[in-house]
Amino acid sequence: MTKKVAFYTLGCKANQYDTEVMKGALNEVSDYRIAPLSEDSDIAIINTCSVTGGADRKSRKYIRRAARKAELVMVTGCYTSLDSDEIADISGVDIIFPNPHKYEVVKIIRRAESGFRGKVEEVNGSAWDIDQRVISRDSNHTRAFLKVQDGCSNHCTFCKVHYLRGPTRSKSRSRVIEEASELGDNGFSEIVLTGINLAEYGEEAEELAELIRELSQVEEISRIRLSSINPEGITRELLEAFKDSEKTCPYFHVPLQSGSDSILDAMKRGYSREFYLKKIELIRNSLSEPTIGTDLLVGFPGEKERDFARTKETIREAGPINGHVFRFSPRSVTPAADFEDKVRSSVKKRRAAELRSLVSSISLNRRREFRGNSLDMIIEEPSDKIGGWRGYSKNYLDIHLRQLDHAVTLEPGETVKVKMTEVREDYCLAEPLDSDHETQKVASAIKSGREKSGE
Ligand code: SF4
Repeated sequence: MTKKVAFYTLGCKANQYDTEVMKGALNEVSDYRIAPLSEDSDIAIINTCSVTGGADRKSRKYIRRAARKAELVMVTGCYTSLDSDEIADISGVDIIFPNPHKYEVVKIIRRAESGFRGKVEEVNGSAWDIDQRVISRDSNHTRAFLKVQDGCSNHCTFCKVHYLRGPTRSKSRSRVIEEASELGDNGFSEIVLTGINLAEYGEEAEELAELIRELSQVEEISRIRLSSINPEGITRELLEAFKDSEKTCPYFHVPLQSGSDSILDAMKRGYSREFYLKKIELIRNSLSEPTIGTDLLVGFPGEKERDFARTKETIREAGPINGHVFRFSPRSVTPAADFEDKVRSSVKKRRAAELRSLVSSISLNRRREFRGNSLDMIIEEPSDKIGGWRGYSKNYLDIHLRQLDHAVTLEPGETVKVKMTEVREDYCLAEPLDSDHETQKVASAIKSGREKSGE
């Protein structure tokens, strides 16, 4: 009898990719079928995240929910690396298999079916081999996340991730090319290269640039995007490779964390405010219409109002269109958890709110610069804002395309030429531009729709 397997996945793109790998392995075996979360399942696999205390709490919530719906409950992911005892205490948990065992999911289910319960312990070197499996589809996105790197050799003092994902390692370029062309074959026109620290991709310097050049030759894909990359990964060679390819997306999510050099030192981020801004300037001077995103951490121990002011200044200079703002929370095993001079939670809250509103006003002005511009947008999903479609431009503007005439068919994954007409709080509006028959039909539909609604 075929068993239904449901996946609960939390966290970053690299972790979501790992779930696709496990789904791929199960799809190769006739005994199992991937079941949607809405259905009760025979087996539930929770791929946890542990980047913050909040992620741990959410992981525990998902585990409890799964335990109410499935006979066999298996837990993997970053939360299992250091805190498997906490997980083992949750009633209903049968199997714990940490990150290096994800690629052996079928073998572990078989062991469970013959009665094994508990934590999968032994790890041999090959378990970390990132080349051993690839994916051919992404069941959750129109853009496929493609993990090319895992682990991290940095030691940022607030970060627990590098204790959880193992040694830094990279997928060979030939394997990435093979995977990208198969994803392209299966309809994924855009691939998003992801990892834990993409700046560490490859054995040699500039291997990421080389990878971009080789990927640009893969006919089956039309867009190449980077997920997030630390400032030290932004190099002339990488930007040259971006400039020389029609397929690359000029959006760079470059975590800053803080704009104060003394706080960056305490975080052991390995760069200064000036170094960061120079990298942003290099991007601006190298590519046409590039945009920036960033991550910011407020309330790090010792952060004074002057440090926070520096962060705001730096953000104004960097001019991001996206900014994820986190409040510092001490993580066990990290050095910063024992740092003195803790910032009061009310102050953290106020600074986070102030920074979020600053980022959104900077983003609004930055995106307004693209009003009237023509852009390519890949249709992703129906818009949740207006009657129409949503998708992203190459430089990661969140675009909503009005569609009034439902006779016109647009499909997720389709590229449409649009003209950006309006910028709203957290998204942009556009209308079709190009003379292509389909979009011509859309254009006329919008025009008649406008006439009908008197706009
Ligand atoms: S670069 Fe720093 S924050 Fe990022 S995973 Fe590595 S140690 Fe953590």
